[in-house]
Amino acid sequence: MAAIDIKNVVKKYGDDAPAVNDVSIDIADGEFMILVGPSGCGKSTLLRMIVGLEDISSGEIRIGDKVVNDLAPRDRNLAMVFQNYALYPHLSVYENIAFPLRLAGAKDDAVDEAVRKASAILELDEYLERKPANLSGGQRQRVAMGRAIVRDADAFLFDEPLSNLDAKLRGQMRTEIARLQKRLGITTVYVTHDQTEAMTLGDRVAVLKRGLLQQLATPRELYENPGNLFVAGFIGSPPMNFLPARVKGTSVELPFGTVELPPEKAEKVQDSDLLIAGIRPEHFEDASVKEDTSAGSTFRATVDVVEWLGNEAYAYLPYEADAEVQNQLDELERDLEGEAMRNQLVVSLDGSSRIAEGDEAEIWVDSSRMHLFDAATGENLTIDLDNAGRVPEREQAVRS
Ligand code: ADP
Repeated sequence: MAAIDIKNVVKKYGDDAPAVNDVSIDIADGEFMILVGPSGCGKSTLLRMIVGLEDISSGEIRIGDKVVNDLAPRDRNLAMVFQNYALYPHLSVYENIAFPLRLAGAKDDAVDEAVRKASAILELDEYLERKPANLSGGQRQRVAMGRAIVRDADAFLFDEPLSNLDAKLRGQMRTEIARLQKRLGITTVYVTHDQTEAMTLGDRVAVLKRGLLQQLATPRELYENPGNLFVAGFIGSPPMNFLPARVKGTSVELPFGTVELPPEKAEKVQDSDLLIAGIRPEHFEDASVKEDTSAGSTFRATVDVVEWLGNEAYAYLPYEADAEVQNQLDELERDLEGEAMRNQLVVSLDGSSRIAEGDEAEIWVDSSRMHLFDAATGENLTIDLDNAGRVPEREQAVRS
């Protein structure tokens, strides 16, 4: 096992903008690191550079204390666990796991010991004689991991391993990978475009956009303190609401009314005519089911649609957005690949709420959880700069 240190790594293809642009990520020994972002953000290219399948245009990658820039993939001692598992259909589970050792000319005794050890960890003992065709998707994934384990690799690398599976199996596999990674304690780099996988699996998550690292932080930090609009819109489901905001002192004027900012947030922003407020759906509530509404602000709004799910309900509240924020939100929608997030507020209410379509309802908002973003740069103005894992070059990142 080893740490992986990615320093100022750039990948250029021809004259295009760099696919990976000056990215630095320090992955600790045993850490589960997620590389996440929409398609084309450079996450696979970065993974392929770590493995050695792609040259680095500039920068440095270290595995343990060794610079591996010029090492061939086979000399890096990393195990890539492929999306399609890449199992040999004619070989048994035992021989599939044993494969890398046989290739290296290991003796039968050594092979047997390694395969049995891996199989015990992966709970594959009763399947060792089966062929891959007679296994479930989850079991196949474990065989693929077994093959990586017997190699005693320094790290596991996954490239979208679950993207071909249906939602239920994907959930199961996610849990399985998390469990195994914890048990093995092996350094893991995992590429996905799925924010749920990023949030549930990662010790830390590196969010990329157009080749630039946007933020490198724990899932909780990304959720609570997103460094910019892009991260705020990408992390969380349903996504954060973005609204035009005008600030005067501690008051923030939003399309549906004025809310009060806690002083510690208000002092981070100056009076401003044009900011973008970000509020997550779950930080609203039906005021009539909330025991104490004194901590935030309440407003009245007409409810367009209600989706009642039992434990909670989503209500949609239409509003008119100013033309001035449209540009920034247009761009954000393109970056996030077309999430509709404009001209309606999505609020998540307790399942006991009786709010119905067409009602003019009183809604409470936890304004202490509100973020304010610079409308031009997208930068989050309401968080502490140093503690959020925000990348130092954020100016460049958010302006790109
Ligand atoms: P992701 O994995 O995030 O979807 P990739 O790392 O595959 O993104 O690609 C990042 C960018 O680099 C994209 O714009 C893609 O078109 C470009 N790219 C990737 N591989 C090549 C290549 N072999 N030649 C030219 N451009 C490439």
